[in-house]
Amino acid sequence: MTREQDDMLRRGIGMTSQRTRERLIQRLYEEGVSNTRVLEVIRQTPRHLFVDEALAHRAYEDTALPIGHNQTISQPYMVARMSELLLEAGPLDKVMEIGTGSGYQTAVLSQLVERVFSVERIKVLQDRAKERLVELNLRNVVFRWGDGWEGWPALAPYNGIIVTAVATDVPQALLDQLAPGGRLVIPVGSGEVQQLMLIIREEQGFSRRVLGAVRFVPLLNGPLA
Ligand code: SAH
Repeated sequence: MTREQDDMLRRGIGMTSQRTRERLIQRLYEEGVSNTRVLEVIRQTPRHLFVDEALAHRAYEDTALPIGHNQTISQPYMVARMSELLLEAGPLDKVMEIGTGSGYQTAVLSQLVERVFSVERIKVLQDRAKERLVELNLRNVVFRWGDGWEGWPALAPYNGIIVTAVATDVPQALLDQLAPGGRLVIPVGSGEVQQLMLIIREEQGFSRRVLGAVRFVPLLNGPLA
């Protein structure tokens, strides 16, 4: 950890009690998150810096919170679970994220994999997320303002892809951009009926695992200034 990151962390610990953070980690563990690296990274990532100051005191609750533009910062349990699923078969070097939002999941991922390529359709959210990652000195992330349905073909293939908004169907472009053995973690469905899925590119075709009901904001169409 760099000096800067260390300073950020200390400031974070000052603002929200260390006990509250420990309670969150304990809760994630009890809910079945078992990857200790994931738990450690979540413990060290100052989530309160990713929400409005007025909501900072709730940042270590295991709940999604509003970040403006009708969007939410993902629930810590979902961030942990999806990260763990991505990493289940071993370390990853290139991961694409669809739906940067606040940049919280991005920040967590960036500490778990070599490089993150993060796509967001709302420019102002992306700009703010970029600033936060620079503040935290997390430098292995590049951002694209665009439509996640299309992925980021120029830099494909990816060993992992994570989608943090619910898609009505699995976007074909994302399947196309998976490397052999690559893993796609994505909520699929609409409205109240959404399932978290893990799709793996096998030698022949794709395998699919359904992991249970989830609740995400929708994956919309096209970039938005
Ligand atoms: N992981 C984020 C979650 C943000 S909510 C966080 O923890 O903060 C989902 C995000 O997906 C929103 O920022 C939304 O703007 C974005 N999104 C929705 N449809 C998209 C699309 N087609 N392409 C890129 N981003 C999209």
